[in-house]
Amino acid sequence: MEKQAVQRAKEAFVTGRSRPLEFRVQQLKSLLRMITDRQGEIATALKQDINRSQFDTSLFELIGLENEINLAVSKLAQWAAPRPVERSLLTISDEVYIQPEPLGVVLIIGAWNYPWALTLQPLVGAIAAGNAAVIKPSELSEYSASLLKSLLPRYLDQELYPVVCGGVSETQELLRQRFDHVFYTGNSTVGRLVMEAAARHLTPVTLELGGKSPCYIDKNVDLRVACRRITWGKFVNCGQTCIAPDYILCEPSIQNRLVEGIRQTLLEFYGPDPKSSPDYGRIINQRHFNRVMALLEGYTAAVGGQSDASQRYIAPTVVKDVPPHARLMQEEIFGPVLPIVTVSDVDDAIHFINEREKPLALYVFSSNKKVIKRMLAETTSGGVTVNDVMMQYTLSSLPFGGVGQSGTGMYHGKHTFDLFSHLRACLVKSLGMEDVNMARYPPQNRQKARRVRLVLRTPLVDLSRRTYVWAVSATFVAFGLFVTLTAILLIAGGLNCTCWRLWQIWR
Ligand code: NAD
Repeated sequence: MEKQAVQRAKEAFVTGRSRPLEFRVQQLKSLLRMITDRQGEIATALKQDINRSQFDTSLFELIGLENEINLAVSKLAQWAAPRPVERSLLTISDEVYIQPEPLGVVLIIGAWNYPWALTLQPLVGAIAAGNAAVIKPSELSEYSASLLKSLLPRYLDQELYPVVCGGVSETQELLRQRFDHVFYTGNSTVGRLVMEAAARHLTPVTLELGGKSPCYIDKNVDLRVACRRITWGKFVNCGQTCIAPDYILCEPSIQNRLVEGIRQTLLEFYGPDPKSSPDYGRIINQRHFNRVMALLEGYTAAVGGQSDASQRYIAPTVVKDVPPHARLMQEEIFGPVLPIVTVSDVDDAIHFINEREKPLALYVFSSNKKVIKRMLAETTSGGVTVNDVMMQYTLSSLPFGGVGQSGTGMYHGKHTFDLFSHLRACLVKSLGMEDVNMARYPPQNRQKARRVRLVLRTPLVDLSRRTYVWAVSATFVAFGLFVTLTAILLIAGGLNCTCWRLWQIWR
């Protein structure tokens, strides 16, 4: 089944029908129609998968997707056009450009926490770049996966963009096939398996992984605003967001005020009983529920801490004074539990962050410009947001992805288009100007070598071919004008001289 889907996608790609820009635009518009027409069904599936509210479905899954599609449709001609680059003296009259071209058949393996956005956003770029794509949604968000499988063939080319559902064995079977790119979103353990499988075919991979994203709160900050933004980012989708702040770093002097601020905000957001709030989600399955509950063992929650296994409900929970080496601080939480670790100052916070794996996201809350500057300059992460959380994800202009253990490769907007394109280096020379080229041919001598060095060492010029043609034409026209003018003057001068002589003779 998996093999057949890949084979059909390969055969469809070879026909070349995914390449014309009009076809890509038509498929993208059709995808947009699907998510617009089927919003209700998508929201119902997400409610069943993860108790997502219908408003959050639009906010966290569909608006971003719509924006990505609209951007790709409006910019496709520009993205796909040849990109002229700087030329050397030796290639000054030639065409030198980068031509984005499709890679072929790509595999997209999605995750369950935002099953529509994380599966279809890469697909937007894959279609825009002219590829075929095999889509493997996560089996954990099963209602979304089966809805996607039934909807996508009604809107998109069935052979070019097949959906393969299933669990580990189906994914492993897919990974045995040869693709031109594998795009995986999920945990780093499976990320390693994906990379190993792809290495067998020398297939490039993009790994959108996770990890522990720190959030440093400086004492010079409006804590009310900071608490509201952090509480929103941490507890939306029941904490199951890859770029949610995983833990807080702050000085001991503000810890209690911070806890109070989060408690108040939770009350504003979800009322006194988050379990009955339509805006509060659930843990995806029993295994993840047990995993998060095990992380909490041995702690007294400063806020929340209640749970109900029958509903996979864990209350929004804050834990104070967590030791840096506690289990809660060893692995990504990916649930509604927020540990606070105290640090003595900003130096200590920077040291704490740099001692650990490079995070997917880093958040800094401060009114102090020096603190912000230091945090930006002295740490690294996939992305960073100052005085807010998660909003970096909403900008298609910013590349989204990890660094080191939090992932490899970046996407969103044009970055996705480039990711799924081969950027082909193109040099189209004429057969003229052979005199200039003679210097590089054997037999070599000192004079030729000096000439070659001179030509090759000249800095690259940023001159488009059109500018070059204009410049050469303008030079010719100017030279022509100069010659004509000189000739006229000479002739006029000569005539004048002859006339003068004739006048003298006649007189
Ligand atoms: P998951 O369990 O749904 O796995 C993702 C995919 O991997 C699924 O399609 C699944 O079929 C496949 N898979 C699982 N085990 C496999 C195996 N042994 N061999 C081959 N394929 C296998 O998702 P998850 O890993 O639980 O997702 C949570 C993780 O993903 C977190 O670490 C989170 O931070 C990360 N994440 C990252 C991003 C991002 O954009 N960087 C987004 C969402 C989630």
